[in-house]
Amino acid sequence: MGSFVSFQCKFCRYEESSIGVGHGKTTSPFLALYRCQHCNTFGSTWIYENKIPRCSSCYDDALTLLPDDVRKVNCPKCGEPGVITPKEGSWE
Ligand SMILES: [Zn+2]
Ligand SMILES: [Zn+2]
Repeated sequence: MGSFVSFQCKFCRYEESSIGVGHGKTTSPFLALYRCQHCNTFGSTWIYENKIPRCSSCYDDALTLLPDDVRKVNCPKCGEPGVITPKEGSWE
């Protein structure tokens, strides 16, 4: 089952409250965390085999993919360290 995380930057107050990660009943495709260099957002996108992952906001492919268990990442808006927190709940 997939889970959710939230991202929060206390410096510029940018936050994303409910980002799905992981995979559901099948292992592929799965949701991976990314930071988009094009629209400067943080989120997750579906990863398919043989397909380039794209930002779910701007559809650009200038993404930095991040591991599921990452807990600290530089804020895409201001560059200061932001915090990723696991959230309750799951999805299939
Ligand atoms: Zn920030
Ligand atoms: Zn983007």
